[in-house]
Amino acid sequence: MMSKFNNGKPYHGSDDVKEGKLQGATDATDYFYFFCPKCDDKEIMRILEYGEHAKKDINQYNVDCKSQAKYGFALAFKLHCEKCGHSDFVKVSNMGWQGGKHSEALSR
Ligand SMILES: [Zn+2]
Repeated sequence: MMSKFNNGKPYHGSDDVKEGKLQGATDATDYFYFFCPKCDDKEIMRILEYGEHAKKDINQYNVDCKSQAKYGFALAFKLHCEKCGHSDFVKVSNMGWQGGKHSEALSR
């Protein structure tokens, strides 16, 4: 059985990952990697664990969109940089608005 994400303790991304400071990219395949926000030259962070942060049967944005999400979800990832020791959290979700440009999302 999988243990509780972050041993059941609170998990919030630090300011180091907010406002566009956490970036990443795919490798040669379709796998996505996060880069350490503290290190130079796109140091890849390990993902130590993930957890389901939220799930909903209905996606609230379906009514506004041509595309239809099958459900709403939010996954949390615990990131760690082997090089500098920085640990952080990030969430990936389809329950926030996903349209327009990134600059508009930052200003909301
Ligand atoms: Zn680092």
